[in-house]
Amino acid sequence: MGRIAYVNGRFVPHRDAAVHIEDRGYQLADAVYEVWAVMDGRLADAEGHFARLERSLGELKIRQPMSRRALEMVMREALRRNRVREGLIYLQVSRGVAPRDHAFPGDDVAPAVVITAKSLDRAAVEAKAAKGVGVVTVAENRWGRCDIKTVGLLPNALARQQAKEAGAYEALFVDELGMITEGAASNAWILDQDGVLRTRDTNANILRGITRRTLMDVIAETGLPFQERPFTVEEAKSAKEVFVTGAGSLVLPVVSIDGQKVGDGAPGPVATRLRRLYIERARATAL
Ligand code: PLP
Repeated sequence: MGRIAYVNGRFVPHRDAAVHIEDRGYQLADAVYEVWAVMDGRLADAEGHFARLERSLGELKIRQPMSRRALEMVMREALRRNRVREGLIYLQVSRGVAPRDHAFPGDDVAPAVVITAKSLDRAAVEAKAAKGVGVVTVAENRWGRCDIKTVGLLPNALARQQAKEAGAYEALFVDELGMITEGAASNAWILDQDGVLRTRDTNANILRGITRRTLMDVIAETGLPFQERPFTVEEAKSAKEVFVTGAGSLVLPVVSIDGQKVGDGAPGPVATRLRRLYIERARATAL
């Protein structure tokens, strides 16, 4: 069975799914998106991602395309039609289709909605996590509103390509003070030399990761020392452990930075344990 996408009110074969050339998402990156991990056919961290979607839309004054309930129904139908039990679901909302003009179109222009769903081989994903991944550092060069999850991902795409060319999986952005902000598609964490888990605070120009938020709750339950505090590249390179979080990565151990080993070059016990605990929680609370 082929994949099916949802585009503006219709389910269509994935290969034929298309938006208009004057969709503002396509021409101006005037669109936001969300990604949920799918576990047992249900949405992981469902509430957090819906809430962030609504916030992103609000910040950009893009109209809610439909009620949350209606959106959820369409998403569940997308999962059903694509037979996704384990995987990812992607939702994009653009300001709509209108003659090209930087300023917003009138209220009569409806937001445009695209939903795709894909299956993942969890065993393969777990094998990758068990090995850990490499990351590279790149200069932070994004706009000042990284808290809004927009499709304006060119700097992220360039950073990820740089990572790929270096044989790494993720790129970590570094600000002008030498502090890591976040990954191209993840939040960054360390277990520092004092045994404190640290991730950057959200007063900084970063995305307020939903996986990050849930993992903070998980960490609180374990009683492990934790601080929302930025760290330098040097601190990351000399940390006991490093990992990244996101709906795609979940909790993913990092074993090298710029080709330099983190710890002994293998996933550490804390990141490995947090991955297990996060997945257990996400699976148990998925809706
Ligand atoms: N930071 C960036 C730039 C991202 O693109 C993402 C996810 O795609 C994240 C962080 C992690 O966010 P979440 O845990 O909500 O998936």
